[in-house]
Amino acid sequence: MDLLKQRILEVGVVASDQVLKLDAILNHQVDPVLIMEMGKEFARLFRETRPDKVLTVESSGIPIAYTTALQLGVPMVFARRKKTLTMDQDTYSERVPSFTKGIVTDIMVSSHLLPKGERILIIDDFIANGDAARGLIKIVEKAEAELVGVGIVVEKSFQNGGKSIRERGIRVESLARIASLANGQITFD
Ligand code: 5GP
Repeated sequence: MDLLKQRILEVGVVASDQVLKLDAILNHQVDPVLIMEMGKEFARLFRETRPDKVLTVESSGIPIAYTTALQLGVPMVFARRKKTLTMDQDTYSERVPSFTKGIVTDIMVSSHLLPKGERILIIDDFIANGDAARGLIKIVEKAEAELVGVGIVVEKSFQNGGKSIRERGIRVESLARIASLANGQITFD
């Protein structure tokens, strides 16, 4: 997606060889016009898979999953990272190492929001080692729902996450693929 690549070059901050900060458009401040374009692109890519629902994990996945769901005309569910007092007792949960925080967190979805057999499209902001996406995939599997694919805004293809999930026969589409962040430079695939 050329518009996204252009914005990444404009506002992306290379925090290290491993981490790109997109706080100006995605991870802290949100650019609504760009996020809407991402939703349109994911909807175009996955409409033929007929998703019933879009699933993401809080917090940065939410705006992108929302615009995707809006374009597809389906609901969006986000996995929570903390159990709240109002949350149902009956949840699917997974323990996921956080790439950026360096800690392990539990992600959870109320089981009634993922009925068996529903067709689920997973959306997230970045993929690095693939732990967040794998956690969401496991929740879909526990629910006996049907995964139709995974849409990622930025795939860092020098890390193994996207490759390892594709090797399982799962469709993964990313809107921008970054081959390297070495020497403070953003290089696309
Ligand atoms: P993974 O679980 O694939 O190792 O990492 C994916 C998760 O970590 C994403 O949900 C995202 O929040 C965060 N993440 C991974 N790499 C980056 C990065 O380079 N920049 C930012 N902002 N977040 C990242």
